[in-house]
Amino acid sequence: MSAVLYVIVPCYNEEEVLPVTSGLFLEELSLLIRAGKVSDESRILFVNDGSRDATWTVIRDLAASDPHYLGISQSRNRGHQNAVLAGLMEARDKADITISCDCDGQDDITAMEAMVDAYYAGSEIVYGVRSKRDTDSFFKKNTAQAYYRFLDRMGAEVVYNHADYRLISSRVLRELADYHEVNLFLRGLIPLVGFSSSCVEYERRERLAGKTHYPLGKMIALAVDGVTSLSVRPLHLIAVAGGVIALLSFIGVIWAVICQLLGMTVAGWASVTCIVCFVSGVQLIALGIIGEYIGKIYLETKGRPRYIISERTWEAPPARPVPDKTEEK
Ligand code: UDP
Ligand code: MG
Repeated sequence: MSAVLYVIVPCYNEEEVLPVTSGLFLEELSLLIRAGKVSDESRILFVNDGSRDATWTVIRDLAASDPHYLGISQSRNRGHQNAVLAGLMEARDKADITISCDCDGQDDITAMEAMVDAYYAGSEIVYGVRSKRDTDSFFKKNTAQAYYRFLDRMGAEVVYNHADYRLISSRVLRELADYHEVNLFLRGLIPLVGFSSSCVEYERRERLAGKTHYPLGKMIALAVDGVTSLSVRPLHLIAVAGGVIALLSFIGVIWAVICQLLGMTVAGWASVTCIVCFVSGVQLIALGIIGEYIGKIYLETKGRPRYIISERTWEAPPARPVPDKTEEK
């Protein structure tokens, strides 16, 4: 029997692009169903991430128009990673395989067939990997590649040029459910789950409509999250740097004492200022990095829910409570 596939599509303020891409998702799913590769029970599950525009209305209309569309809505905006997780967890008991894919058409939807084939060939995880970065700006291309190299140096295992376009089997999903961390960086977390994996190459295109929700600030925050939630090597580097600076300082002290004894001291304003500035800068960076980790520990200890689903398209919207007239008398 063919597998039940759930395509998880996070959507945040995407009223412009959803009407365009929803048809493409359904086209690809129908093709897979007709080819007998996935079951007719397969679905496209949109996750509305607390959008402020008409995204949820668009999703509800889609769900009413074709049984292959489903939607869940988060109680508020929680960010891309949490939206994907909410969709994955929702699909956990319903699907044999899930594919997470951005809703803006940037990830080549037709690569899903190759992913499903790779699953049947024995992979529990199939990573969508960008074959080239022609559509990226010079800045984004270079910073992204430097970041992957940096993550690698920091000991975090991520697949080069893979974002969040991937197939996961229900077996991997069940194990993923046991990772309770609040600071989510799925592309680093999923390789930690293990199991057999493979890669499928695809070309990443321009957005079909709407605009990006990842401006530079959010991208930097995601990058910092990636490193600090996957690796403690920066803390180790701080300790090493502290050791080296302490050693240099010790040599400096001996040098200063010798100069003093030999009567070679002169008014050394510039050198003292440089040393103070340098060392205090290094200390502040070190404190900042340590602070990042403490902040993460703080958030983890609270153990707050990572997502809250407020509505599902297959359930009736919550009815208004009817006032109990008998009590008023
Ligand atoms: N997204 C989301 N919540 C957010 C921000 C983005 O669910 O808070 C979704 C968005 O709708 C899209 C995907 O995450 O499907 C990737 O976002 P976007 O295309 O804006 O990022 P980019 O591709 O430019 O990095
Ligand atoms: Mg995008």
